[in-house]
Amino acid sequence: MDLFEYQARDLFDAFGVPVLPGSVATTPAEARAAAARIGGQVVVKAQVKTGGRGKAGGVQLAADADEAGAKAAQILGMDIKGHTVHRVLVAQASDIAEEYYFSYLLDRANRTFLAMASVEGGVDIEQVARDNPEALARIPIDANAGVDEAKAREIVTAARFPEAVADQVVAVAQTLWRVFTESDATLVEVNPLVQDPSGKIIALDGKVTLDGNADFRHPEHADLDDAAAADPLERAASAKGLNYVKLDGEVGIIGNGAGLVMSTLDVVAYAGEEFGGVKPANFLDVGGGASAEVMAAGLGIVLSDPAVRSVFVNVFGGITACDDVARGILQALDILGDDIAGEAGRTGVPLVVRLDGNNVEEGRRILDEAAHALVEQVDTMDGAARRAAELAAQA
Ligand code: GDP
Ligand code: MN
Repeated sequence: MDLFEYQARDLFDAFGVPVLPGSVATTPAEARAAAARIGGQVVVKAQVKTGGRGKAGGVQLAADADEAGAKAAQILGMDIKGHTVHRVLVAQASDIAEEYYFSYLLDRANRTFLAMASVEGGVDIEQVARDNPEALARIPIDANAGVDEAKAREIVTAARFPEAVADQVVAVAQTLWRVFTESDATLVEVNPLVQDPSGKIIALDGKVTLDGNADFRHPEHADLDDAAAADPLERAASAKGLNYVKLDGEVGIIGNGAGLVMSTLDVVAYAGEEFGGVKPANFLDVGGGASAEVMAAGLGIVLSDPAVRSVFVNVFGGITACDDVARGILQALDILGDDIAGEAGRTGVPLVVRLDGNNVEEGRRILDEAAHALVEQVDTMDGAARRAAELAAQA
């Protein structure tokens, strides 16, 4: 789970990482009140889970509370890289002498943790890594040893932080390591970590990714899981226990097994090129036991996406045999019948079904015999992907 900046700010604050006073607001009036509480110049920052907010106009200074309200009115509702801004962070503004970069992350490729730090912060760190790689220090961290003062100093020296702030950054580096490990994060990033004109080090922007596998030992993280921010379909799917991710294409995808669904996305995107760039509309893994109820729930979610023009159901029968899946699909269509018809324009979205694996003959026979007007079978994955793309393009 990725945190919003204001949640990262609060987390940093709780651990003692230096941050500036600030609070989140969802309306211009709230932003105005927050600015009045803070006093003086403030910065109003769009809270969206994507970078480059500054460049997009989502980070603005305001001289007083009235201006903060006006800036919030401007920023709320803004679209930043496809994310609508529903809240802003109003924080005390800081004058900036220098902008640095600091992060800890899980380095999957090297099976270790990694500290990255640079005195060229504030900007896109990928760009620094590309254009000026020696300006980005990369120090592996042993999971058992962690970051003690010596390790923190090694990072600070490697990144060539100025002598005058070295001790402060060493302290912040150790505190951020506590944030990283004690919160079970896979990423803690501060960009920029600034030095203000008085020489004080402050974390001005934070990005934190928490490891969902550790949620069981962090009941406090449940509050951070911001349902309101997720896509409404993703929220509905998660309430039904479905593993659904909204994408921006036209071919709805349902499959069993994450690997199969991932490759289905690739195959559909490839087939779609022939039909004017038709793309997958979602990722949906209904898992091993693709029962009628799960199929109905999945189809319901996929079909509530107004962009969906066709659906590709790609199932490899394993523990759940193809005949069960076939019956599940038919029952799902029955269950959904009225619902689908009830929504304007949602009638008649065609389903391309590809069954293979355990008991495939019986599965195919059941679907053939039912001869449902919306269901078409294609025996191969490539063929079915092509047909689903074609149907989506025709609709
Ligand atoms: P991002 O663009 O999404 O990474 O958002 P940031 O929070 O990093 O803000 C982008 C840039 O805005 C920073 O690198 C700073 O240059 C500037 N900025 C952010 N907060 C302040 C502030 O309090 N005062 C000043 N002067 N600039 C700020
Ligand atoms: Mn930033």
